[in-house]
Amino acid sequence: MKQTRRQFLGASALALAGCTLPRSSDPSQDPEPVIDIHQHTDYGGKRDKDWNPTGPGRTHEQLIAHQKAMGVTRTVLLPAGKFVRGASTHQGRANGLDGTCSGNEVCRQLAKDHPELFLFGANEVPDLPEAPETVEKYLKAGACVIGEQKFGVECDSAEMQRLYALAGDYNVPILMHWQHTTYNPGFDRFPKMLEKFPKVTFIGHAQTWWANIDKNHLDQSVLYPKTKVTPGGMTDRYLADYPNLFGDLSAGSGQNALSRDEDQAREFLQRHQSKLMFGSDCTDALGQGAACIGAGTMALIRKLASKEVSRKLLFENARKVFRL
Ligand SMILES: [Zn+2]
Ligand SMILES: [Zn+2]
Repeated sequence: MKQTRRQFLGASALALAGCTLPRSSDPSQDPEPVIDIHQHTDYGGKRDKDWNPTGPGRTHEQLIAHQKAMGVTRTVLLPAGKFVRGASTHQGRANGLDGTCSGNEVCRQLAKDHPELFLFGANEVPDLPEAPETVEKYLKAGACVIGEQKFGVECDSAEMQRLYALAGDYNVPILMHWQHTTYNPGFDRFPKMLEKFPKVTFIGHAQTWWANIDKNHLDQSVLYPKTKVTPGGMTDRYLADYPNLFGDLSAGSGQNALSRDEDQAREFLQRHQSKLMFGSDCTDALGQGAACIGAGTMALIRKLASKEVSRKLLFENARKVFRL
């Protein structure tokens, strides 16, 4: 029998729906909930040579579609600090978190509009005099984390210590982007802060954090090392030694740490199974395929960790750290 046009359209529409529908329309009912601890609003726009945004980033609608396509049920939105030109923002480079990410108010509002999908953080350029006040305002409004802290301010400076103290006062984690000489300089001195603020939960992220899973990472200017990993690097030791330190698997740096040496990555995920959390931090609008770092990292986690450990990395650890 010849297929009618209506039958044909019906079948193809159904097939399309089958591969694009989110796993569940009600996140709390999802059999495998996933928390993404690291995303941004208005991310992925263009900037000119003076770091001024020149083109729009991903829209809120695209961000929601991206989250659903990845199979993520809850996402933490990390705001940028104020747009200022100074040493700590590298004359504007660090504005928008070295991109076009928007700030506190946009993240708070989007989370307020979609509480079932989003949580939000509180942030500010740490060496602005008003930084603690601004951060505290958004903590009072319900922010669940301080960050993403991505500024050229020494990790053990008085300014950063004000924010660590605030994280302790409000019992929220602080998420830090570690990038040699550029953002949060002083990774080798970080243990002093972990010891001085034992009740504060710190979350490490980015190039210098992940490159240092390897004991033989000697040239700190290399941000995405591809060599095999020898356990015992600074990050590996810090995670083992300090119960108040956790790791964020997001971005190309987190994915590189898993893909550069899969055998060692298996061991690493097993060893720190209660200390690591999934995050995406990608700028794409698709939420799947090669362009989506988050989708790729999620697949790697499921490949390299047992079902039980994957559940901790994709959900349970974040639920505890963010007190959800
Ligand atoms: Zn980020
Ligand atoms: Zn993505």
